[in-house]
Amino acid sequence: MSALIAAGEAKTLLDAAIRGELPDERGRFGPFGGRYVPETLVPAFERLEKGVREHLHDPAFQDAFQRELREWVGRPTALTFAPRLSEKWGAEVWIKREDLAHTGAHKINNAIGQALLAKRLGAKRIIAETGAGQHGVAAAAACARVGLPCSVYMGTVDMERQAPNVDRMLRLGAEVVAVESGDKTLRAAIDEALRAWVTDPAGIYYLLGSAVGAHPYPYLVRELQSVIGQEARQQMIDQAGGLPDAAFACVGGGSNAIGLFYPLLADDIELIGVEAGGTGDGLGQNAATLATGTPGVLHGAYTIILQNEDGQVRETHSISAGLDYSGVGPEHALLQATGRVKYVSVQDDEALEALHELCAAEGILTALETAHAYAHARKYAALNPGKRILIGNSGRGDKDLPTLTQYPAQMGSHDGA
Ligand SMILES: *Cc1c(COP(=O)(O)O)cnc(C)c1O
Repeated sequence: MSALIAAGEAKTLLDAAIRGELPDERGRFGPFGGRYVPETLVPAFERLEKGVREHLHDPAFQDAFQRELREWVGRPTALTFAPRLSEKWGAEVWIKREDLAHTGAHKINNAIGQALLAKRLGAKRIIAETGAGQHGVAAAAACARVGLPCSVYMGTVDMERQAPNVDRMLRLGAEVVAVESGDKTLRAAIDEALRAWVTDPAGIYYLLGSAVGAHPYPYLVRELQSVIGQEARQQMIDQAGGLPDAAFACVGGGSNAIGLFYPLLADDIELIGVEAGGTGDGLGQNAATLATGTPGVLHGAYTIILQNEDGQVRETHSISAGLDYSGVGPEHALLQATGRVKYVSVQDDEALEALHELCAAEGILTALETAHAYAHARKYAALNPGKRILIGNSGRGDKDLPTLTQYPAQMGSHDGA
């Protein structure tokens, strides 16, 4: 994708990104990002943008946010050295444990941050979209915490596939709105939530779940998730005695990855995002957006997307519901184009194998999404012996047990080899 920006421009843009100057005032990360939304949505986005500008870096808001992260989310999350995995891989492996955050994944950092912002902006209720249900659960919990009613838009196909998460959202006090339109999955749920938002932009706050969509969401979500990389960077210095040679994170919309990578951009660290390679390279067989996609507009942002030659957005497949998205955050598109971050993909079976290996070696049942990062880190370690590696462990795998039961655990696989 490096052809998307000129060689000279790449360095200028990357320097601007490292200095924290992106997105620009139009919400653009170089050629990517921006706001491509229907006229009816413009006032809602402008209102949100103003609110973000006024409150996000206000000390009182930051105090409240940091306090919730500490007392309710359980931050800082641990940095864990992985001795047996290190020995197996011939590397020094460190794991940033977002699985230990409240509700079991990084998504809660963003959810509680935006819920606090909604409160500050005087919203009367919150809406959110969800695919697999993980963001819906985080949003429902955060709304309960700040005392605002929550409606989660979810496609009926996903409601059926992710029934336990529907139950979790209801128990946390949210209303789940069944979306029958479009593909009846995440894409339709986002469209429907945006439609609801337009009806009352002052009373409703739309709590988006990843670093995607129109400005200011990619920026807002990055700022809220950067706590992952800020903590990990300091913990590596304190516990490992220095920064890693390489850091890995899985990429769906890209929120946990940008949260880990952004605070490491200026450092001499190889950054590698791992997408879902699904069952293969064929049309609709994967969700490897950056690895195989082309530029286009999805959900209001110019970014890299999976589309056919007519610009129709393509169906995706991944064993992990959280990576099953046909777009990616615009900042990742820029980081790829500048060459600062490398994006690769691994297939379903490789992710499963990595998940089993991690369970047996370290006693950590990771999420299927996260397992993609391990699968590639392991390949990297084999080619680059002796490196110090940091892996963003975006979430825990308990939610994946219904899927995992189709692939029985290998008894006695903890052979120490
Ligand atoms: C939702 C989810 C992801 C993918 O979302 P990003 O925005 O790309 O981080 C990754 N890991 C886990 C555990 C998730 O729940």
